[in-house]
Amino acid sequence: MYKKILIIADIEGSTGCSSYEASSFNTGLWYDACIEMSLDVNAVVRRLFDNGAEKIYVKDFHRTGYNLLPELVDKRAQIIHGYKKGPVPGIGDVYDAEAVMFIGMHASSGSGAFLAHTLTSKYSGIFANGRRVSELQLFASSMFRFSLRPVFFSGCDIACSEALEDIPGIDVFPIIKDNTGFIKNENCREQLAGAAAESAANTSALPYMMESPFNVELRMRDGEKRAEKISRRWGLHSGGDRIFFTASGFDEFYDMLIRLTYFTPVTAVFPASALCLFNLYGRAGLSIVRFKRRSKIKKLLKVSSFSSD
Ligand SMILES: [Zn+2]
Repeated sequence: MYKKILIIADIEGSTGCSSYEASSFNTGLWYDACIEMSLDVNAVVRRLFDNGAEKIYVKDFHRTGYNLLPELVDKRAQIIHGYKKGPVPGIGDVYDAEAVMFIGMHASSGSGAFLAHTLTSKYSGIFANGRRVSELQLFASSMFRFSLRPVFFSGCDIACSEALEDIPGIDVFPIIKDNTGFIKNENCREQLAGAAAESAANTSALPYMMESPFNVELRMRDGEKRAEKISRRWGLHSGGDRIFFTASGFDEFYDMLIRLTYFTPVTAVFPASALCLFNLYGRAGLSIVRFKRRSKIKKLLKVSSFSSD
C-alpha cells in the first residue's frame, strides 16, 4: 500500500461544481464550489489517513490554484496552492510521493462531456499522433520521471471512461450529475473517499508516459483567424482552425503546449513575474471566498473538527 500520496484536485468534476459559472473565478457559485471541493478533499484525505497513509500532499490545480480552503481540510494534509514553474510544470514539487490521485477532474477537449477541456476551453481539441489528449495524460506524464504511479481518478462518467482507456490499471470513481449539474447521490462524497482509499493499494497502475515523438494538432474553438494569429506569433504551421507542431519528446511537447496556452513570446521571457502576478490574483480570490462565505465556513468549523482527532 502506498503511504505517501499526492492528490491533484480540480473543481469541474468535484461534487459542488454545477456549471461553468461555478468553475469561474469570483462568482457566487464558485465561492460555494470552493467549499464543497475542500470538503471532498477532506473526506478523501481523512479516509486515506484512517487507512494508514503517512503523508498526503494536495495540489490545488484549478485555474489559479487557489480554490481550496485549508481550514476545511484535515490538518495532517499539506495543501499546495498556486501555479508553480517546476520541477513539474504547474504542479511544482512532488516531494516523496509514491502515488498520485486525481480528483474533481473533467474529460478532454472535444469529448462533449460536462465542462470538458484540455488546459483551456480555447481548444476544441488537442491531438497527439492522432489521439485526443487529456489533462490526465499530460499531468501523469509530467510526473513520470519521479516514478509516481497514477492510481486513482475521479470525474464525470465520460472523464472516467477516458481515464480507463488512457492509463492501464488506474482505478476510477465517477461523480454523476443530473442535467442541472447537481449530484443525485447524497453519499457520493463518502463513496468517493472509500474508492480513493482502496486505490492506495492499487499496484496495477505503473508510472505513465505518452508515446513519443509527438505530431501535434491543436484545434482552435474560435476558428481559422485565431489559429493563424497564434501560429504566426510562434512561427508554427496552421491550416483552417488547426495549428501543427512536432516534438521529439514529452518535455518539449508539454513546454510548447504551455507556451501556446498561457503565454505570448513576450510574456514567456518574463515567466517569473507573470507567475508572481497570477499567484497574487489567485490568493486575492481565496480571500474573497473567505469573506463572502464567512458565516457558512464558521458554521462548518463549529460542527466538524478538521484536526487529526
Ligand atoms: Zn479546473
